[in-house]
Amino acid sequence: MKKLALHWKILIGMVFGIVFGFIMLQVDGGKGFVADWIKPLGTIFVNLLKLIAIPLILASLIKGISDLKDISKFKNIGIRTIITYVLTTVIAISIGLVLVNVIQPGNGVSEETITKLTNTYSENSSVQGKIAEATKQVSSGPLQFLEDMVPDNAFKAMSNNGLMLQVIFFAIFLGISMLLIGEKRAKPMKNLFDSLNDIVLKMVDLIMLSAPFAVFALLASVVVSSDDSDILVALLQYAGVVVFGLLLMIVFYSILVATITKKNPFWFLKQISPAQLLAFSTSSSAATLPVTMERVEEHIGVDKEVSSFVLPVGATINMDGTSLYQAVAAVFIFQALGLDLTFGDQLTIVLTALLASIGSAAVPGAGMVMLVIVLESVGLPPELLPIGLALIFAVDRPLDMCRTVVNVTGDATVAMIVAKSVGKLGEPHVKEWDDNYDEVK
Ligand code: ASP
Repeated sequence: MKKLALHWKILIGMVFGIVFGFIMLQVDGGKGFVADWIKPLGTIFVNLLKLIAIPLILASLIKGISDLKDISKFKNIGIRTIITYVLTTVIAISIGLVLVNVIQPGNGVSEETITKLTNTYSENSSVQGKIAEATKQVSSGPLQFLEDMVPDNAFKAMSNNGLMLQVIFFAIFLGISMLLIGEKRAKPMKNLFDSLNDIVLKMVDLIMLSAPFAVFALLASVVVSSDDSDILVALLQYAGVVVFGLLLMIVFYSILVATITKKNPFWFLKQISPAQLLAFSTSSSAATLPVTMERVEEHIGVDKEVSSFVLPVGATINMDGTSLYQAVAAVFIFQALGLDLTFGDQLTIVLTALLASIGSAAVPGAGMVMLVIVLESVGLPPELLPIGLALIFAVDRPLDMCRTVVNVTGDATVAMIVAKSVGKLGEPHVKEWDDNYDEVK
């Protein structure tokens, strides 16, 4: 019998997880059962992915750079990557702004809904926590982000998944220095990282064997912890605008893939679908990164010289879905509270949402923290901040799941475009977890 493709297995796991979650909501003690017995399986899976993220970035970047024959190639890839990331993000924000201004979802929200949402969520510790976190970020100086990128201790950087940019910096620094000492002397180190890279990619294959079960657990726990459906319905129009914008982004990526790389966009979406489904289930581009890298390299054929730089950097700084959401959410909040936004304010949103998406961590809910900064930049009074966030909080998790899919798809698209532009888009070379199993079993 032909084996069922991985994305179908994951999809089936997701559907079962959602159905199971709804059943458990009806059963006495069902929520507790999911929290105690199901959720941990999802958490273990996410931990496994996070566990290999840093070794993978390190091994793959060092291998990628040391494979380059000259450093100018790296500069070329770097510049193209950053420019494409900025352009796609600005387009995402613009799509969000056009949609929210045309559809105006905030004008349809009744006073009663606003009061209900404010009473339910404005004192919520999670909302308050996001505001506090954002305030911490704002109080830093303009060059803080550069300072944060350079670690003072390589091992400390490698021991914290939140410091991915520092690890990327260290790996690039090491890789370039390896090039500079010459091929012969760099050989032992290169062999070490080549081998580590293969090993970690094999770990991805092994972890993915459990993906269908893990997404079952992840989605069942999202369903049992979701808010009551009345509130979700009140925010349907707002959520609809965000989701519609995100779908347009997927169409936009497909057009880019078809026109620039000359590949079939449906083929592209099929190849990266396991990464997209995991992005949806985990709400974290960082946790999804190992799978994105594996799919883009082995199943799409992007050379490691490109993917090893473009994808980890993209996971941390390129968040098209998040920036589109921030633009829609900011204008929606102003509309719902009856406050005006000038054209100049909307331009400010483009700029701050761009910077905010760069600054957002690739973890669940990070987009909302940076939304606070966007709201402040267009003059939302501090006392209205908790109310503003309360308005959108109830649907944040499902929207987070959707925007993370776009974040990951955007990274994969840019990896393909940059690879094509430097002649590094080759043919897929899929490896299975058991390729060498016969030799060792
Ligand atoms: N969860 C998103 C990500 O990891 C970030 C966000 O929008 O909150 O890409």
